[in-house]
Amino acid sequence: MSRRKLQLLFVTSELYPLVKTGGLADVSYSLPQALSALGVDSIILIPAYAAALQRLQNTKKVYTFTGFERCGVSKGCSLLEARIPDSSQRLLLFDSPELYQREGSIYVDENQQDWPDNARRFAEFCRAACGIALGQCELGWQADVVHCNDWQSGLTPAFIKTYAKPEDHTPASIFTIHNLAYQGIFDRQSFDDLRLPPQWWSADALEFYGNFSFLKAGLIFADYITTVSPNYREEILTTEFGYGMEGVLDSRKDKFVGILNGADYTTWNPATDPHLDQAYDGKSLEKKSQNKLALQKQAGLTEDKNIPVVGLIGRLVPQKGIDLVISTLENLVSETVQWVILGSGDPIFEKRLRQLSQQHRKKIYFCAEFNEVLAHRIEAGADIFLMPSRFEPCGLNQLYSLRYGTLPVVRNTGGLANTVVNATANNIRQGTATGFVFNKVDATELQRILLYALRLYRDKPLWRQLCFQAMSQDFSWLQSAQQYKELYRKVLGNLRGSLADH
Ligand code: ADP
Repeated sequence: MSRRKLQLLFVTSELYPLVKTGGLADVSYSLPQALSALGVDSIILIPAYAAALQRLQNTKKVYTFTGFERCGVSKGCSLLEARIPDSSQRLLLFDSPELYQREGSIYVDENQQDWPDNARRFAEFCRAACGIALGQCELGWQADVVHCNDWQSGLTPAFIKTYAKPEDHTPASIFTIHNLAYQGIFDRQSFDDLRLPPQWWSADALEFYGNFSFLKAGLIFADYITTVSPNYREEILTTEFGYGMEGVLDSRKDKFVGILNGADYTTWNPATDPHLDQAYDGKSLEKKSQNKLALQKQAGLTEDKNIPVVGLIGRLVPQKGIDLVISTLENLVSETVQWVILGSGDPIFEKRLRQLSQQHRKKIYFCAEFNEVLAHRIEAGADIFLMPSRFEPCGLNQLYSLRYGTLPVVRNTGGLANTVVNATANNIRQGTATGFVFNKVDATELQRILLYALRLYRDKPLWRQLCFQAMSQDFSWLQSAQQYKELYRKVLGNLRGSLADH
């Protein structure tokens, strides 16, 4: 390889601060920039959603597809170039107004139904990624590595492998699973409509129990697979968490690694967070209660800094254990504790939480919006943060909570298990405890551990010690980025080595 910087194309369907439904957006924002500090030159590719274009200034059209590129993008679609706001990070947007210029969310319509043309929307996106990867878009920039994320970019490695010619500078491909539960499964008709290579309809390729899966394409064709925590890697190799993909993953086990996500401490730092009433850090922890009072005020709860506040932010779906939270809330409603819950999702969960908050206005606050500012204010104002997930690939909110001294209560699964140390008597003694961990998916267990946490809360010096320990954890992106960079080099070395053998 030449001595120039390693060049990375980062393909993603979400990107903070432009379009976000969950953790993928945060990762897509932070990882390329952390890699940049390590000398990796990256371009991020996202679809040119209406919402993203509205938030960008100075986009410039840099390429218009002719319909003759090998990747098969439709004629007239184009690539726009921009920079992420307040950053020098380069960004390409794949523009196809018919596919992405619409109201509603990026994956679902206003009735929360998947867009009926999602297969086409993301297949075309993957074709564009392949076009860039194979150097067909006259950008004067050649990717060495293409890093794909979740099912929406899953066809990219398959297109690259299928359309590359020996004379191409074919990049290595990495596929990262952020959540195996979302697999991009579509039927045979969609497969035909997408004009995919017929040989892909095979159990060894994309076919998946009579349908086909974008995610499986990534798992089969990428040079290397990663997921977002070491523990989740182990879990998804089992039938319980593998969603039918455990066999495919097992067959690629030697090219599959778990790399923990990081937290972006430039955005999530109580000492500099512009959304807080009062900045604080580990040395000025007493100031945190100003944020509690401000949150209580904003939420219409009784304003009292001695009442413990439990926070929750996230998608209201069964994965996140919201049913357990609702049972616990119902059982603990007579306790001296307040609840602030931010999130939207399953209408049944939303309805019940709304009812509970209306019945107990001074104790329970529920906001069914996506509200970035409130998310920061909850992290700072709450004392305890709930994440009783059934499974959790990595989880970001528990990392933010640690940094904000808001002790996480988590289930012993996925990345939660890799990042929170349970406050057992022993761990407290040794000074390693940072939160509360319970095992079974069971409301009684959640309730038990929450009551234990509330008991410790009353012991102020002990609670302070736990908060301090939590706040001093370092889950910054640097370490993760270093591991990704090493992986890129390794995979690229293997690829070039094997090409050289021919
Ligand atoms: P997931 O990706 O499964 O949704 P993560 O914990 O990895 O879960 O990431 C969730 C991200 O989305 C966090 O940054 C969290 O703060 C944010 N988030 C989720 N729901 C909301 C909401 N209703 N308002 C604001 N931010 C939210």
